[in-house]
Amino acid sequence: PTVIAVLNQKGGSGKTTIATNLAHALKRDGYTVLLIDSDPQGSARDWNEASGGNIIPVVGLDRETLAKDLQAISQGYDWIVIDGAPQIAKLSAAAVKAADLVLIPVQPSPYDIWACADLVDIIAARREVTNGKPKAAFVISRAIKNTKLSGEINQALSDYGLPVLKAGTTQRVVYPTTAAEGLTVFSNPSTDAAREINTLKKEVLEVLK
Ligand code: ADP
Ligand code: MG
Repeated sequence: PTVIAVLNQKGGSGKTTIATNLAHALKRDGYTVLLIDSDPQGSARDWNEASGGNIIPVVGLDRETLAKDLQAISQGYDWIVIDGAPQIAKLSAAAVKAADLVLIPVQPSPYDIWACADLVDIIAARREVTNGKPKAAFVISRAIKNTKLSGEINQALSDYGLPVLKAGTTQRVVYPTTAAEGLTVFSNPSTDAAREINTLKKEVLEVLK
């Protein structure tokens, strides 16, 4: 399978929202998808239980042995999406090790961007020993509609030397309201929220080519 890890050591950056919605977008394309909850708080597991587990299978792997544990259970899936854990650098490193692509959701605020420094270092260290794997990109999360990112934000992001996806999420109440029911924005596939997640999925497929 191809492994996408959605990581950022800052809580509230949009990891679980992007992981669950992106996983569902991939499933709707006919792929088999497994969602790994690497957060000891178990948000993705709670999400899954809220809907009775009907959307995506979720398995909790919140130990440093994640990369190895994942190999044992990932057979037969097209995609693995890892929902990242806050704070714990060793868990982030384990997820980076397992990943083909790391997505870093970041809210468009300088503090949130500066807080990514440790994760970017972890990714760089991994790439040194693997000839450039995993790929990695920022995903702007919870942007306010119709506002351009400021020069300051773009500068802070470009200082890291990682690409920023054109697609991202904007601030929409449908994200928390669908999550509360264990669902995703695809509850209503003809909404702008569903469109922005599909656009994100397409760009992710493009980046992985
Ligand atoms: P993390 O997993 O990084 O801690 P979450 O995905 O749980 O972040 O998001 C934190 C909070 O922000 C949650 O309450 C979530 O519903 C909300 N949220 C995330 N993305 C959006 C968005 N695009 N619009 C509105 N609320 C969002
Ligand atoms: Mg989370």
